[in-house]
Amino acid sequence: MAGAHYVELAVTFHLEASHRLPCAPQDSACRRLHGHSWVIDVHVAGAVDMDSGWLLDYHDIEAAWQPVHDALDHQHLNEVEGLSNPTSELLAIWIWDRLAERLEGLLRITVRETCTARCTYFGPGRGKEEAK
Ligand SMILES: [Zn+2]
Repeated sequence: MAGAHYVELAVTFHLEASHRLPCAPQDSACRRLHGHSWVIDVHVAGAVDMDSGWLLDYHDIEAAWQPVHDALDHQHLNEVEGLSNPTSELLAIWIWDRLAERLEGLLRITVRETCTARCTYFGPGRGKEEAK
């Protein structure tokens, strides 16, 4: 078989957490304390190991996620260190920083705040082309 075969894997996780956005405009509802059932997609990319047939075990993504879940689930995000202004954007970056060191091939993270609103982060310095 010629050439490597690249794939993207994704696992979806759920968090329940409250927040308020202190930097939002004065008349924004986001300034008020409220909660979300956050949905986070973690995407990993790389070449398939043709012996195992895997890029990696989905369980490896779940294991990397567990400390993030433990830190954020049923918390008031503003009180979590590094999340004093917990927008979806800054939450995605916060999660990236904690997953990247444990998860080789981390490609992007999507944080869904509601059924219709979501933020995707591609890692430091990446995604500029996608954001145009
Ligand atoms: Zn909100």
